[in-house]
Amino acid sequence: MYTPFQSHLNDQLNEIKKAGLYKNERIIISPQGAEITLESGQKVLNFCANNYLGLSGNQQLCDAAKAALDSHGYGMSSVRFICGTTNLHKELERKIAKFFRTEDTILYAACFDANGGVFEPLLTSEDAIISDSLNHASIIDGVRLCKAVRYRYENADMDDLENQLQLAQEQRFRLIVTDGVFSMDGNVAPLRQIIELAEKYNAMVMVDESHSAGVVGETGRGVTELYGLMGQVEIITGTLGKAFGGAIGGFTTGKKEIIELLRQRSRPYLFSNSIPPLVAAAGIKMVEMMTGTNELQDRLHRNSEYFISRMTAIGFDIKPTRSAICAVMLYDAKLSQDFAAELLKEGIYVTGFYFPVVPKGQARIRVQLSAAHEIEHLDKAIKAFEKIGKKLGVLPLNPLKGT
Ligand SMILES: *Cc1c(COP(=O)(O)O)cnc(C)c1O
Repeated sequence: MYTPFQSHLNDQLNEIKKAGLYKNERIIISPQGAEITLESGQKVLNFCANNYLGLSGNQQLCDAAKAALDSHGYGMSSVRFICGTTNLHKELERKIAKFFRTEDTILYAACFDANGGVFEPLLTSEDAIISDSLNHASIIDGVRLCKAVRYRYENADMDDLENQLQLAQEQRFRLIVTDGVFSMDGNVAPLRQIIELAEKYNAMVMVDESHSAGVVGETGRGVTELYGLMGQVEIITGTLGKAFGGAIGGFTTGKKEIIELLRQRSRPYLFSNSIPPLVAAAGIKMVEMMTGTNELQDRLHRNSEYFISRMTAIGFDIKPTRSAICAVMLYDAKLSQDFAAELLKEGIYVTGFYFPVVPKGQARIRVQLSAAHEIEHLDKAIKAFEKIGKKLGVLPLNPLKGT
Protein backbone atom coordinates (compact mmCIF):
# COMPACT_ATOMS: atom_id res chain seq x y z
CA MET A 1 0.00 0.00 0.00
CA TYR A 2 2.73 2.46 0.94
CA THR A 3 4.65 2.42 -2.38
CA PRO A 4 2.05 4.29 -4.51
CA PHE A 5 1.42 6.71 -1.65
CA GLN A 6 5.18 7.28 -1.30
CA SER A 7 5.53 8.29 -4.94
CA HIS A 8 2.43 10.48 -4.58
CA LEU A 9 4.14 12.30 -1.68
CA ASN A 10 7.43 12.56 -3.55
CA ASP A 11 5.62 14.14 -6.50
CA GLN A 12 4.21 16.80 -4.20
CA LEU A 13 7.56 17.42 -2.53
CA ASN A 14 9.18 17.82 -5.93
CA GLU A 15 6.51 20.27 -7.00
CA ILE A 16 7.13 22.36 -3.89
CA LYS A 17 10.86 22.35 -4.64
CA LYS A 18 10.33 23.17 -8.33
CA ALA A 19 8.19 26.15 -7.39
CA GLY A 20 11.00 27.33 -5.10
CA LEU A 21 8.69 27.10 -2.08
CA TYR A 22 10.49 24.39 -0.13
CA LYS A 23 11.06 25.47 3.45
CA ASN A 24 14.34 24.69 5.16
CA GLU A 25 15.15 25.13 8.81
CA ARG A 26 18.20 27.15 9.77
CA ILE A 27 19.83 25.67 12.85
CA ILE A 28 20.69 27.94 15.78
CA ILE A 29 23.00 26.78 18.58
CA SER A 30 22.72 29.76 20.95
CA PRO A 31 19.84 31.23 22.97
CA GLN A 32 17.39 33.36 21.00
CA GLY A 33 18.40 37.02 21.05
CA ALA A 34 19.58 40.04 19.10
CA GLU A 35 22.79 38.16 18.28
CA ILE A 36 22.60 34.42 17.62
CA THR A 37 25.04 31.72 16.55
CA LEU A 38 24.22 29.50 13.61
CA GLU A 39 25.29 25.88 13.32
CA SER A 40 28.01 26.97 10.88
CA GLY A 41 29.53 29.02 13.71
CA GLN A 42 28.53 32.27 12.01
CA LYS A 43 27.28 34.92 14.43
CA VAL A 44 24.45 36.97 12.98
CA LEU A 45 22.15 39.77 14.10
CA ASN A 46 18.62 38.45 14.23
CA PHE A 47 15.91 40.58 12.66
CA CYS A 48 13.32 37.87 12.02
CA ALA A 49 12.23 36.70 15.47
CA ASN A 50 8.97 37.70 17.16
CA ASN A 51 11.16 38.47 20.17
CA TYR A 52 9.80 42.02 20.32
CA LEU A 53 10.67 42.76 23.94
CA GLY A 54 13.86 40.69 23.93
CA LEU A 55 12.43 38.39 26.62
CA SER A 56 13.21 35.06 24.92
CA GLY A 57 16.64 34.87 26.51
CA ASN A 58 15.84 37.11 29.49
CA GLN A 59 17.60 36.10 32.71
CA GLN A 60 14.74 37.08 35.02
CA LEU A 61 12.33 34.87 33.09
CA CYS A 62 14.86 32.00 33.10
CA ASP A 63 15.24 32.40 36.88
CA ALA A 64 11.46 32.43 37.41
CA ALA A 65 11.15 29.29 35.26
CA LYS A 66 13.97 27.53 37.16
CA ALA A 67 12.39 28.37 40.53
CA ALA A 68 9.08 26.92 39.32
CA LEU A 69 10.87 23.75 38.14
CA ASP A 70 12.00 23.29 41.75
CA SER A 71 8.69 24.21 43.37
CA HIS A 72 6.21 22.67 40.90
CA GLY A 73 8.15 20.10 38.86
CA TYR A 74 8.30 19.70 35.11
CA GLY A 75 4.88 18.73 33.73
CA MET A 76 1.25 18.41 34.78
CA SER A 77 0.32 15.15 32.99
CA SER A 78 -3.24 16.39 32.82
CA VAL A 79 -5.65 18.75 31.16
CA ARG A 80 -6.66 21.75 33.25
CA PHE A 81 -10.01 20.54 34.57
CA ILE A 82 -8.86 17.11 35.76
CA CYS A 83 -5.67 17.79 37.72
CA GLY A 84 -3.69 20.21 35.54
CA THR A 85 -4.33 23.53 37.28
CA THR A 86 -1.77 25.01 39.68
CA ASN A 87 -1.82 28.28 41.59
CA LEU A 88 0.61 29.55 38.93
CA HIS A 89 -1.89 28.95 36.10
CA LYS A 90 -4.59 30.82 38.01
CA GLU A 91 -2.27 33.69 38.88
CA LEU A 92 -1.15 34.11 35.28
CA GLU A 93 -4.79 34.14 34.11
CA ARG A 94 -5.62 36.89 36.61
CA LYS A 95 -2.53 38.88 35.68
CA ILE A 96 -3.29 38.75 31.96
CA ALA A 97 -6.86 39.97 32.60
CA LYS A 98 -5.55 42.82 34.72
CA PHE A 99 -2.98 43.71 32.05
CA PHE A 100 -5.64 44.02 29.33
CA ARG A 101 -8.32 45.38 31.72
CA THR A 102 -10.61 42.49 30.90
CA GLU A 103 -12.72 40.35 33.24
CA ASP A 104 -11.17 36.89 33.02
CA THR A 105 -8.64 34.81 31.05
CA ILE A 106 -8.34 31.20 29.91
CA LEU A 107 -4.92 29.78 29.00
CA TYR A 108 -4.25 27.43 26.08
CA ALA A 109 -1.20 25.54 24.85
CA ALA A 110 -0.90 28.08 22.02
CA CYS A 111 -2.82 30.96 20.46
CA PHE A 112 -3.49 28.58 17.58
CA ASP A 113 -5.57 26.63 20.08
CA ALA A 114 -7.15 29.74 21.59
CA ASN A 115 -8.39 30.75 18.12
CA GLY A 116 -9.24 27.17 17.22
CA GLY A 117 -11.40 26.82 20.32
CA VAL A 118 -13.11 30.21 20.62
CA PHE A 119 -15.82 30.26 17.94
CA GLU A 120 -17.44 26.84 18.02
CA PRO A 121 -18.56 26.91 21.67
CA LEU A 122 -19.96 30.46 21.43
CA LEU A 123 -21.77 30.69 18.09
CA THR A 124 -24.15 28.49 16.10
CA SER A 125 -25.61 28.39 12.58
CA GLU A 126 -27.99 31.18 13.66
CA ASP A 127 -25.03 33.56 14.10
CA ALA A 128 -22.49 35.37 11.92
CA ILE A 129 -18.70 35.79 11.96
CA ILE A 130 -17.33 38.70 9.94
CA SER A 131 -13.62 38.16 9.40
CA ASP A 132 -10.80 40.28 7.91
CA SER A 133 -9.38 38.70 4.72
CA LEU A 134 -5.82 38.77 6.11
CA ASN A 135 -6.58 37.19 9.46
CA HIS A 136 -4.16 34.57 10.78
CA ALA A 137 -4.51 30.93 9.68
CA SER A 138 -5.61 29.91 13.19
CA ILE A 139 -8.61 32.26 13.02
CA ILE A 140 -9.51 30.87 9.61
CA ASP A 141 -9.32 27.32 10.97
CA GLY A 142 -11.28 28.24 14.09
CA VAL A 143 -14.04 29.79 12.00
CA ARG A 144 -14.16 26.64 9.86
CA LEU A 145 -14.87 24.55 12.95
CA CYS A 146 -17.88 26.71 13.82
CA LYS A 147 -21.30 26.51 12.15
CA ALA A 148 -21.86 30.27 12.11
CA VAL A 149 -22.48 31.96 8.74
CA ARG A 150 -19.20 33.41 7.44
CA TYR A 151 -18.63 36.85 5.99
CA ARG A 152 -15.26 38.14 4.85
CA TYR A 153 -14.17 41.74 4.33
CA GLU A 154 -11.11 43.04 2.51
CA ASN A 155 -8.16 43.82 4.79
CA ALA A 156 -8.96 46.81 7.00
CA ASP A 157 -11.55 48.00 4.43
CA MET A 158 -14.27 49.68 6.48
CA ASP A 159 -16.67 50.16 3.55
CA ASP A 160 -16.51 46.45 2.88
CA LEU A 161 -16.94 45.66 6.59
CA GLU A 162 -20.07 47.82 6.59
CA ASN A 163 -21.43 45.95 3.54
CA GLN A 164 -20.83 42.62 5.23
CA LEU A 165 -22.43 43.81 8.47
CA GLN A 166 -25.53 44.81 6.52
CA LEU A 167 -25.71 41.34 4.98
CA ALA A 168 -25.21 39.78 8.41
CA GLN A 169 -28.26 41.51 9.88
CA GLU A 170 -30.19 38.34 9.09
CA GLN A 171 -28.33 36.44 11.79
CA ARG A 172 -28.97 36.46 15.56
CA PHE A 173 -25.54 37.47 16.93
CA ARG A 174 -22.62 38.97 14.98
CA LEU A 175 -18.91 38.78 15.84
CA ILE A 176 -16.33 40.83 13.94
CA VAL A 177 -12.85 39.31 14.18
CA THR A 178 -9.53 40.92 13.27
CA ASP A 179 -5.82 40.59 13.86
CA GLY A 180 -4.52 43.58 15.86
CA VAL A 181 -1.40 43.83 13.70
CA PHE A 182 -1.24 42.05 10.35
CA SER A 183 1.99 40.13 10.21
CA MET A 184 3.08 40.71 6.62
CA ASP A 185 2.58 44.51 6.33
CA GLY A 186 2.74 45.43 10.00
CA ASN A 187 -0.39 47.57 9.63
CA VAL A 188 -2.66 48.01 12.63
CA ALA A 189 -6.37 47.17 12.41
CA PRO A 190 -8.55 50.34 12.41
CA LEU A 191 -10.16 49.33 15.68
CA ARG A 192 -11.90 52.61 16.40
CA GLN A 193 -13.88 52.45 13.18
CA ILE A 194 -14.48 48.72 13.66
CA ILE A 195 -16.04 49.40 17.06
CA GLU A 196 -18.13 52.25 15.67
CA LEU A 197 -19.49 49.94 12.97
CA ALA A 198 -20.02 47.21 15.55
CA GLU A 199 -22.17 49.60 17.58
CA LYS A 200 -24.09 50.77 14.53
CA TYR A 201 -24.81 47.22 13.36
CA ASN A 202 -25.13 45.54 16.73
CA ALA A 203 -22.06 43.31 16.58
CA MET A 204 -19.38 42.13 19.03
CA VAL A 205 -15.63 42.46 18.41
CA MET A 206 -12.71 40.07 18.82
CA VAL A 207 -9.06 41.14 18.36
CA ASP A 208 -6.12 38.75 18.09
CA GLU A 209 -3.28 40.70 19.73
CA SER A 210 -0.55 38.14 18.96
CA HIS A 211 1.69 40.60 17.08
CA SER A 212 0.50 43.67 18.99
CA ALA A 213 0.52 42.65 22.67
CA GLY A 214 3.71 43.97 24.25
CA VAL A 215 4.35 46.00 21.11
CA VAL A 216 1.60 48.46 20.21
CA GLY A 217 0.33 51.17 22.55
CA GLU A 218 2.45 53.24 24.86
CA THR A 219 2.68 50.50 27.51
CA GLY A 220 2.37 47.56 25.11
CA ARG A 221 -1.22 46.68 25.89
CA GLY A 222 -2.02 46.31 22.21
CA VAL A 223 -4.35 48.01 19.76
CA THR A 224 -7.06 48.60 22.37
CA GLU A 225 -4.54 50.80 24.18
CA LEU A 226 -3.32 52.50 20.98
CA TYR A 227 -6.86 53.72 20.25
CA GLY A 228 -7.90 54.35 23.86
CA LEU A 229 -10.37 51.46 23.75
CA MET A 230 -9.18 49.22 26.58
CA GLY A 231 -11.91 46.99 27.96
CA GLN A 232 -14.18 47.79 25.01
CA VAL A 233 -13.93 44.59 22.97
CA GLU A 234 -15.64 41.39 24.02
CA ILE A 235 -12.77 39.01 23.20
CA ILE A 236 -8.97 39.33 22.96
CA THR A 237 -6.73 36.41 22.03
CA GLY A 238 -2.96 36.42 22.23
CA THR A 239 0.20 34.36 22.47
CA LEU A 240 2.95 33.88 25.04
CA GLY A 241 5.14 32.86 22.10
CA LYS A 242 6.04 36.31 20.74
CA ALA A 243 6.66 39.48 22.78
CA PHE A 244 5.45 37.77 25.98
CA GLY A 245 8.53 35.58 26.47
CA GLY A 246 8.58 33.56 23.27
CA ALA A 247 8.22 30.07 24.77
CA ILE A 248 4.76 28.58 24.31
CA GLY A 249 1.19 29.25 25.33
CA GLY A 250 -1.82 31.31 24.33
CA PHE A 251 -4.85 32.87 25.92
CA THR A 252 -8.33 34.22 25.44
CA THR A 253 -9.25 37.13 27.69
CA GLY A 254 -12.48 39.12 27.83
CA LYS A 255 -16.02 39.07 29.19
CA LYS A 256 -16.35 36.69 32.11
CA GLU A 257 -19.32 34.71 30.82
CA ILE A 258 -17.46 34.08 27.55
CA ILE A 259 -14.41 32.77 29.41
CA GLU A 260 -16.62 30.71 31.72
CA LEU A 261 -18.35 29.01 28.81
CA LEU A 262 -15.00 28.37 27.08
CA ARG A 263 -13.86 26.53 30.22
CA GLN A 264 -16.90 24.28 29.83
CA ARG A 265 -16.92 23.76 26.08
CA SER A 266 -13.70 24.81 24.32
CA ARG A 267 -12.20 21.66 22.86
CA PRO A 268 -8.46 22.53 22.84
CA TYR A 269 -8.85 23.48 26.52
CA LEU A 270 -10.76 20.34 27.46
CA PHE A 271 -8.75 17.82 25.47
CA SER A 272 -5.16 19.10 25.42
CA ASN A 273 -2.52 19.28 28.13
CA SER A 274 -2.02 22.15 30.50
CA ILE A 275 1.04 24.40 29.94
CA PRO A 276 4.01 23.53 32.19
CA PRO A 277 4.09 25.44 35.50
CA LEU A 278 7.51 26.86 34.60
CA VAL A 279 5.96 28.58 31.58
CA ALA A 280 3.18 30.01 33.76
CA ALA A 281 5.75 31.22 36.30
CA ALA A 282 7.82 32.96 33.61
CA GLY A 283 4.59 34.46 32.27
CA ILE A 284 3.77 35.91 35.68
CA LYS A 285 7.25 37.41 35.85
CA MET A 286 6.82 38.80 32.33
CA VAL A 287 3.59 40.64 33.26
CA GLU A 288 5.22 41.97 36.44
CA MET A 289 8.16 43.28 34.42
CA MET A 290 5.89 44.95 31.88
CA THR A 291 3.79 46.52 34.61
CA GLY A 292 6.66 47.62 36.86
CA THR A 293 8.47 49.67 34.23
CA ASN A 294 7.97 50.71 30.64
CA GLU A 295 11.63 50.36 29.77
CA LEU A 296 11.33 47.47 27.31
CA GLN A 297 8.29 48.94 25.55
CA ASP A 298 10.07 52.30 25.27
CA ARG A 299 13.21 50.67 23.86
CA LEU A 300 11.16 48.77 21.29
CA HIS A 301 9.33 51.91 20.19
CA ARG A 302 12.57 53.89 19.98
CA ASN A 303 14.24 51.12 17.95
CA SER A 304 11.30 50.79 15.57
CA GLU A 305 11.12 54.52 14.93
CA TYR A 306 14.90 54.77 14.48
CA PHE A 307 15.10 51.90 12.00
CA ILE A 308 12.05 52.83 9.96
CA SER A 309 12.89 56.53 9.71
CA ARG A 310 16.46 55.84 8.59
CA MET A 311 15.47 53.17 6.08
CA THR A 312 12.89 55.55 4.62
CA ALA A 313 15.44 58.38 4.44
CA ILE A 314 17.89 56.14 2.53
CA GLY A 315 15.17 55.61 -0.05
CA PHE A 316 13.71 52.20 0.74
CA ASP A 317 10.05 51.65 0.07
CA ILE A 318 8.57 50.82 3.49
CA LYS A 319 4.94 49.83 4.11
CA PRO A 320 3.20 52.20 6.50
CA THR A 321 3.44 50.61 9.95
CA ARG A 322 2.75 51.40 13.60
CA SER A 323 4.08 48.08 14.84
CA ALA A 324 7.55 46.57 15.17
CA ILE A 325 7.22 44.97 11.73
CA CYS A 326 8.95 46.80 8.88
CA ALA A 327 8.15 45.50 5.40
CA VAL A 328 10.91 46.54 2.98
CA MET A 329 9.20 46.29 -0.39
CA LEU A 330 11.20 44.75 -3.25
CA TYR A 331 8.21 43.45 -5.30
CA ASP A 332 10.23 40.82 -7.19
CA ALA A 333 10.30 37.31 -5.66
CA LYS A 334 13.82 36.36 -6.75
CA LEU A 335 15.19 39.73 -5.71
CA SER A 336 13.75 39.23 -2.22
CA GLN A 337 15.57 35.92 -1.89
CA ASP A 338 18.86 37.24 -3.31
CA PHE A 339 18.65 40.28 -1.06
CA ALA A 340 18.14 38.15 2.08
CA ALA A 341 21.02 35.84 1.09
CA GLU A 342 23.36 38.82 0.58
CA LEU A 343 22.31 40.27 3.93
CA LEU A 344 23.11 37.00 5.67
CA LYS A 345 26.65 37.20 4.26
CA GLU A 346 26.82 40.62 5.93
CA GLY A 347 25.72 39.04 9.21
CA ILE A 348 22.10 40.23 9.06
CA TYR A 349 19.46 37.54 9.37
CA VAL A 350 16.11 38.46 7.78
CA THR A 351 13.54 36.59 5.72
CA GLY A 352 12.29 37.43 2.23
CA PHE A 353 8.60 36.68 1.62
CA TYR A 354 6.87 36.23 -1.72
CA PHE A 355 3.77 34.65 -3.25
CA PRO A 356 1.79 32.81 -1.88
CA VAL A 357 2.71 34.20 1.55
CA VAL A 358 2.12 37.72 0.20
CA PRO A 359 0.22 38.73 -2.99
CA LYS A 360 1.93 38.20 -6.39
CA GLY A 361 4.36 41.01 -7.21
CA GLN A 362 4.48 42.13 -3.57
CA ALA A 363 7.70 40.37 -2.49
CA ARG A 364 9.47 41.94 0.43
CA ILE A 365 11.90 41.53 3.29
CA ARG A 366 10.23 41.61 6.66
CA VAL A 367 12.34 43.16 9.40
CA GLN A 368 11.23 42.69 12.98
CA LEU A 369 12.59 45.08 15.57
CA SER A 370 13.27 44.16 19.18
CA ALA A 371 13.97 45.87 22.47
CA ALA A 372 17.04 43.61 22.56
CA HIS A 373 18.62 45.43 19.60
CA GLU A 374 21.27 47.99 20.47
CA ILE A 375 21.58 51.11 18.30
CA GLU A 376 24.86 49.61 16.91
CA HIS A 377 22.89 46.56 15.77
CA LEU A 378 20.39 48.76 13.98
CA ASP A 379 23.14 50.83 12.38
CA LYS A 380 24.90 47.70 11.15
CA ALA A 381 21.67 46.42 9.61
CA ILE A 382 20.87 49.77 7.97
CA LYS A 383 24.40 49.95 6.49
CA ALA A 384 24.09 46.40 5.15
CA PHE A 385 20.69 47.18 3.63
CA GLU A 386 22.14 50.25 1.95
CA LYS A 387 25.16 48.35 0.59
CA ILE A 388 23.11 45.47 -0.81
CA GLY A 389 20.40 47.86 -2.01
CA LYS A 390 22.99 49.60 -4.18
CA LYS A 391 24.63 46.36 -5.27
CA LEU A 392 21.33 44.86 -6.42
CA GLY A 393 20.06 48.07 -8.01
CA VAL A 394 17.25 48.71 -5.56
CA LEU A 395 18.76 52.03 -4.48
CA PRO A 396 20.40 54.55 -6.81
CA LEU A 397 24.20 54.54 -6.48
CA ASN A 398 24.31 58.31 -5.88
CA PRO A 399 21.11 59.18 -4.10
CA LEU A 400 19.82 62.74 -4.48
CA LYS A 401 18.31 62.60 -1.04
CA GLY A 402 20.83 62.55 1.80
CA THR A 403 21.04 59.54 4.03
C1 LIG B 1 1.59 33.81 15.88
C2 LIG B 1 0.13 34.01 15.81
C3 LIG B 1 -0.77 33.05 16.28
C4 LIG B 1 -0.30 31.72 16.79
O1 LIG B 1 0.26 31.84 18.05
P1 LIG B 1 0.95 30.53 18.71
O2 LIG B 1 0.86 30.80 20.18
O3 LIG B 1 2.31 30.45 18.17
O4 LIG B 1 0.10 29.37 18.31
C5 LIG B 1 -2.11 33.34 16.24
N1 LIG B 1 -2.57 34.50 15.74
C6 LIG B 1 -1.75 35.44 15.24
C7 LIG B 1 -2.31 36.71 14.70
C8 LIG B 1 -0.38 35.22 15.25
O5 LIG B 1 0.44 36.15 14.75
